[in-house]
Amino acid sequence: MSLSEIEEKLHKMESEALTSIDEAKSSEEVEALRLSLLGKKGELTNILQGLSGLDKDTRPIVGKRANEIKVKVQEALDKRKDDVFNLALEQKLAQEKIDITLPGNRLALGHAHPLSQITEEIIDIFYGMGFSVADGPEIETDYYNFDALNTPSDHAARDEQDTFYTNISPETLLRSQTSTVQIRVMEKGKPPFRIIAPGRVYRNEEVNARKYPLFHQVEGLLIDKDVTFGQLKGTLNLFIQRLFRSFGKPIQTRFRPDFFPFTEPSAELDALCPFCDGKGTNCRTCGQRGWLELLGCGMVDPAVLQAVNIDPEEYSGFAFGMGLERLAMLRYGIKDIRYFYSNHMDFLRQF
Ligand SMILES: [Zn+2]
Repeated sequence: MSLSEIEEKLHKMESEALTSIDEAKSSEEVEALRLSLLGKKGELTNILQGLSGLDKDTRPIVGKRANEIKVKVQEALDKRKDDVFNLALEQKLAQEKIDITLPGNRLALGHAHPLSQITEEIIDIFYGMGFSVADGPEIETDYYNFDALNTPSDHAARDEQDTFYTNISPETLLRSQTSTVQIRVMEKGKPPFRIIAPGRVYRNEEVNARKYPLFHQVEGLLIDKDVTFGQLKGTLNLFIQRLFRSFGKPIQTRFRPDFFPFTEPSAELDALCPFCDGKGTNCRTCGQRGWLELLGCGMVDPAVLQAVNIDPEEYSGFAFGMGLERLAMLRYGIKDIRYFYSNHMDFLRQF
């Protein structure tokens, strides 16, 4: 092959290479060309490797020319790579327009459950009267749940508070009342006491519109010198007026004698039904009775004080307990206790 033939071949190869580089549409195509042109098995490499077979005069001319082409091709490849990248970026930017009029993704904000809300409110009211919050375990022993509350194993009141027993031991159960916290507080400290204990309690009961095996109570205890039933009435009356102040009128209450093993005397606090103004006619909320049971209360039985080494001659006090769900149902006009645990957004959004 003569020099002019070689030069022609090189010229042809150069122009073909530059044309195909110009036509490459993506960086992948550019890289494929780089391999086929400059790679170990590329055309230009072939020519450079074949230089030794040429005669002395031709060799440097062809070598110089081939190197020039190599540099040109390399530059063209680099430039094309930048160009296709910029082109792709421009196309992408042109397509991805930001519509600033779109509403955007708003994060849904939750809020406290109605039972948490009413708990906070009750705590707040009692804070105002000098009570503080006490807490205790939900898994309890027979002793704290019954015996210490003046309910020995043969006591009839145990049947009303059938709860769930555990396989930890025959004496370990889920507490059926938050009164257990009272005993724990009195055991640990010295009077005077002024506490409320909100929390979950359990009963072995069938589920219906008014009953659920899990519910919440708020228990209260005040122990001091010379505590009277009058103070009990005053405290609870004030509490009820504050809790139901959204009704816009004073709630008429009455204390009806009742029995609890750990208080003596004991009473049930009723409110005149605010839904039928006490008339009872066709009122399902009060079951046509005209009165609603709100909570149980009484003066702490001396035997309970003695059991925790508090001298009943020196100290006296009162205790009360209420079902949170029941108060929340009255306060918000909720007809079925199961709504509280169903997690229906339509229900929860109302609060
Ligand atoms: Zn009524």
